[in-house]
Amino acid sequence: MIVLGIETSCDETAAAIVSDAREIRADVVLSQLDDHTPYGGVVPEIAARAHLEHLDGLIRRALDESGLGLGDIDAVAATGGPGLIGGVIVGVMTAKAIAAARKLPFVAVNHLEGHALTARLTNDVPFPYLLLLVSGGHCQLLVVEGVGKYSRFGTTIDDAVGEAFDKTAKLLGLGYPGGPLVEKAAARATDPGRFDLPRPMVGRPGCDFSFSGLKTAVRRHVEELSTPLSPDDQADLAAAFQRTVAEVLADRCARAMRRFKELHPQGGALVVAGGVASNKTLRARLQTLADKEGMPFVAPPLRLCTDNAAMIAWAGIERLRLGQTDPLNFAPRPRWPLDPSAKPAIGKAG
Ligand code: ATP
Ligand code: MG
Ligand code: FE
Repeated sequence: MIVLGIETSCDETAAAIVSDAREIRADVVLSQLDDHTPYGGVVPEIAARAHLEHLDGLIRRALDESGLGLGDIDAVAATGGPGLIGGVIVGVMTAKAIAAARKLPFVAVNHLEGHALTARLTNDVPFPYLLLLVSGGHCQLLVVEGVGKYSRFGTTIDDAVGEAFDKTAKLLGLGYPGGPLVEKAAARATDPGRFDLPRPMVGRPGCDFSFSGLKTAVRRHVEELSTPLSPDDQADLAAAFQRTVAEVLADRCARAMRRFKELHPQGGALVVAGGVASNKTLRARLQTLADKEGMPFVAPPLRLCTDNAAMIAWAGIERLRLGQTDPLNFAPRPRWPLDPSAKPAIGKAG
């Protein structure tokens, strides 16, 4: 089975072709970074127009790279939400048009399920597993019991972790997008232990997260230093922020691992997913934790952590294998939590 995947929920326009033998035949991503950088963040209207302009060409490129034609495709999967609604509509309408014209099954994929199942595209990861989902709009600990079967241990009570990286980058004068710039600045820190930041929620019961206090602490340090910050100040503060986030996430994961083991004594892996999962300090910290707890640790390759369409095609394949498809009157969902019992989400989407 060969599936065309389409991703348009935020500021990456992406198309990919993936087989059920876990081969990524093509995976093209067009970042709209240059369109949004002047505004310091993603502008939904600009994003929707850019998706519309580029998606057709990207699908053609994916087909060319795979050496396949539309006639070789067995199904079309597109992100159906959550995300910026204008962009999601562009992807869903395009997918439906191809599905209708070629009489192919259509799957509307939950973007978060795309992140959640990526590890199964690249590694042998059986259900159940414990998932730390860390992205631009989310920060959650979930048990992935199966396709479409999620139970949530914890979520952020304020900012998503990617959002915290982006806001911190702005405070430090590093620009946008924050995550990769904070990681780069931290790597050149000459005195990484110079700043000590608070560790919100660490040691508290439960598996929830909080990042707004950390961001405020960074702001206070910035206000005390002379602005614009020197490159050394930027680097040392970025290192402190990154290290603290990794510590907070590891503390919450340690609690979740204990709970997971009680529920699933037969075991399972710790999996990390979402854009922030491409952070190398975080990956190393989680590997250390998993080694200590005796749990396997799986982190997808860096380029499959940030938004891409291979993960959408793969989630489509997982659903198609279970006989699940969506009707062509599927309505895009700007909010779409993974866990049905989830409280209304805080943050931009989901
Ligand atoms: P969601 O998946 O929750 O809908 P999204 O799709 O916008 O949100 P992703 O593309 O999964 O989010 O992740 C983007 C986020 O990841 C941004 O906030 C970005 O700053 C962060 N990020 C990307 N690379 C890194 C990195 N190397 N270190 C830390 N954060 C990173
Ligand atoms: Mg993005
Ligand atoms: Fe995402």
